[in-house]
Amino acid sequence: MKYKHLFGPVQSRRLGFSLGVDLVPFKYCPLNCVYCEVQSTDHLTLERREFFPLQEITDELADFLKDQPQLDYITFSGAGEPTLYSRIGDIVRFIKDEFPGYKLALLTNGTLLNNSSLRQEILPCDLILPSLDACRQQTFKIINQPHPELTAAGLVEALVALRNDYHGLIWLEVFIIAGINDSEEELACLCEAIGRIRPDLVQINSLDRPGAEAWVQAAGDSVLNKVLDYFSARLGMPVEIIAKAHQANTDLHVPEDIEAAIAATLKRRPSTAEDLSSSLGLHINEISKFLRQLHGEGKVSVRREHRGIFYSWKQ
Ligand code: SF4
Repeated sequence: MKYKHLFGPVQSRRLGFSLGVDLVPFKYCPLNCVYCEVQSTDHLTLERREFFPLQEITDELADFLKDQPQLDYITFSGAGEPTLYSRIGDIVRFIKDEFPGYKLALLTNGTLLNNSSLRQEILPCDLILPSLDACRQQTFKIINQPHPELTAAGLVEALVALRNDYHGLIWLEVFIIAGINDSEEELACLCEAIGRIRPDLVQINSLDRPGAEAWVQAAGDSVLNKVLDYFSARLGMPVEIIAKAHQANTDLHVPEDIEAAIAATLKRRPSTAEDLSSSLGLHINEISKFLRQLHGEGKVSVRREHRGIFYSWKQ
């Protein structure tokens, strides 16, 4: 069966061997983060919809899971915000009812979690990984370029509400951009918010691959360590830096046939990850992962154009 919604499983440092489930079309998101590794958000929206028939997704899951493959997590993620899918609760229930041995993780920007029905829908997840990069509105706007109806204060309250309702694990990710959200004022505000959210773990992240905006640079070790020390001294919870682990993760193997297929296309015409995904029939997340690796190896160059990020094969 050819999968449209499943990708991987991939070896993820945070989640181990993880099967990705993509529930929304490419780049439907309530945020347009300047560091987004996919590309700019085409559809900035808060509207939850049944983008795809439920059965299309459950059929793929049933097919993949019927032989009981070894997985650490089944993870809702992808090139958009998974909670925009209005039937995510049905998918969660389907997996927990039909395949109860698997753990479920949800990667979310958290912006829709002010919706109490949505919070109820995701309660059976074993792990929720939301993001909070700023709690001052001006900084939230700079980093996350949110839908006009969203506020940083609203996002913090939504995450506090999640913690109150949900008794599984919450790992909160904070993406640091030096000079934007690493000042004493920003960190103090974040600390206060995180203290209220009470996640089980805080993960500090920074850029390790080209982001949506070219001006975003990776924060250096000194900046990340400063944030780590600041949070660790004030929050009574575990805090870690995940950016370093990502930077060290350069041993991904791009299968020769896939590399050859990508090279054959990019040598002839620069393409976006989306172009390659449709022409090669691979999920966008697989393509993005391979492109990042090939870029890291210096085999492809990257250029930003109006339609997105274009990759070219270096001759
Ligand atoms: S990083 Fe996540 S939340 Fe931000 S724009 Fe990209 S998909 Fe949306």
